[in-house]
Amino acid sequence: MTRWHDQSSATYMKLDREGDKKRSWKGEPPGGVILNSGNSKEFSTGDWRAMRPIWLIEKCTQCLLCWPVCPDMAIPVEGGERTDYNYYHCKGCGICVEVCPFDAIDFIREE
Ligand code: SF4
Ligand code: SF4
Repeated sequence: MTRWHDQSSATYMKLDREGDKKRSWKGEPPGGVILNSGNSKEFSTGDWRAMRPIWLIEKCTQCLLCWPVCPDMAIPVEGGERTDYNYYHCKGCGICVEVCPFDAIDFIREE
């Protein structure tokens, strides 16, 4: 184990200032390591949601402007038309609400 693990951050900074020659990036603990591609599908980003978009189907013209702007791919498209939200992944950012030119998306506080 490197010294990084058994020193307080104050000591760590002191070592840093004194130019500890033995310390290098190789001794740092690894950060976020992604072992498998596509694993974001497993994360329920919907848990973060404080606001919920509601699709108002009667106002929707299927222009699909909302679909490409969603950072979580939470607006499923089937047969060239959007369908209802995937609330497992929708994190309630509200971007789709902003881009919809037809006020076809309501935005309400999550209960
Ligand atoms: S609120 Fe944000 S995350 Fe949810 S569907 Fe709209 S753009 Fe996607
Ligand atoms: S941007 Fe609005 S009108 Fe266009 S597909 Fe999305 S919800 Fe429907």
